[in-house]
Amino acid sequence: MWRVIDYYPKNIICTNSICYSLKLLTLLMAGIYIHIPFCKQRCSYCDFYTRVAPRQINDTVNAIIREMEIRRDYLKDDFIQTIYFGGGTPSLLSAEQFQRIFETLFLIFKIKNDAEITFEANPDDLTPSFFESIHSLPFNRISIGIQSFDDDELKKINRRHTGNEAIAAFQNARNAGFRNISIDLIYGLPLQTKQSWEIQLQKAFELNPEHISVYGLTYEEGTPLHKLRELGRITSAADAEMIDMHLFMLPKMESAGYEAYEISNFAKSGFRSQHNSAYWKMKPYLGLGPSAHSFDGKSRCWNVSSIKNYNQAVFANEVFTESELLSTDEKYNEYVMVSLRTKEGVDMDYLQNNFEFKYVRNFELIAKKHINDKLLIINDKNISLTTKGILISNLIIEDFIVV
Ligand code: SF4
Repeated sequence: MWRVIDYYPKNIICTNSICYSLKLLTLLMAGIYIHIPFCKQRCSYCDFYTRVAPRQINDTVNAIIREMEIRRDYLKDDFIQTIYFGGGTPSLLSAEQFQRIFETLFLIFKIKNDAEITFEANPDDLTPSFFESIHSLPFNRISIGIQSFDDDELKKINRRHTGNEAIAAFQNARNAGFRNISIDLIYGLPLQTKQSWEIQLQKAFELNPEHISVYGLTYEEGTPLHKLRELGRITSAADAEMIDMHLFMLPKMESAGYEAYEISNFAKSGFRSQHNSAYWKMKPYLGLGPSAHSFDGKSRCWNVSSIKNYNQAVFANEVFTESELLSTDEKYNEYVMVSLRTKEGVDMDYLQNNFEFKYVRNFELIAKKHINDKLLIINDKNISLTTKGILISNLIIEDFIVV
């Protein structure tokens, strides 16, 4: 059902030609991230750059389309393997706005026929009529921000949906033909008990999504939730409780058929997020929209974090992006930071092929200590965190950082 429809040029990639195979040898796979920085209301724990400003949505969609034209060469000739609409709340866009973005995307970039195309959504947007309106668009994956099925827990973090709405949203997505659905859950919510966490997991498994992302609640400075804790109006879960909830979840995920392929991400076989996996493998991506980040393999750049300034600059052909060339230290630090969070961990071949000897030596020396403490494990040519290591992953990763 979710196919590239007629107005998208289908012959962008000729999969039958010899040229295609030869080209694949020289061209990289890349991703495109599109940031939709709007929400209907702000959740009290969130520190992402988003605004409640519905009147600015259409101008920003136009600016994103213009940005694609301006930055059409950023990924050179790379094939696009993944497209991800994140936010914010992409499900606030109308079908017509999505359609205009897709038309430009497919005209400008070489999108693979089997590209993973995801959008993030809030449960209360996912009505049957919403799905009806987007049925001809090429989405093949949806990520639903459920967080919890418990109405009291949802209220405490100012989510705008109920537990029943979350279940209905999921079922509406299935009925609309989505066969690759991810849901987000959060543990350690104010007043959440271990029993409640067990119920949330159980409800998630009953829905049987292909992918589950799970985050421990953090109290980011500047958020309303952080303020409430400072004022003593809520209490955060103790570190030991957070560890307990994480440990409690791991065997449950496994017996429900989910592979822990990254610290916060669990997938049924064949349903890992290709988009996020590409980030973790340091593949290039183009980030479009206010505050979006991009990476071309050598440097990072980021768009201005202001909807107004971004929109104005894009249309005035002014600079709206800052960039920095990554030093070898930074590249090494990033590679170790992201790959140690994954099931496969650090690939020693990759390390040896991409970094000087001193970095490989640094990694080996520190890894040895943690392997002895059973916090890291060697698996053929890869070194990854053990379950014990996952619980203090931040401390272990910090140990490897080169400054
Ligand atoms: S809907 Fe998502 S992006 Fe928007 S405020 Fe809530 S958590 Fe943040």
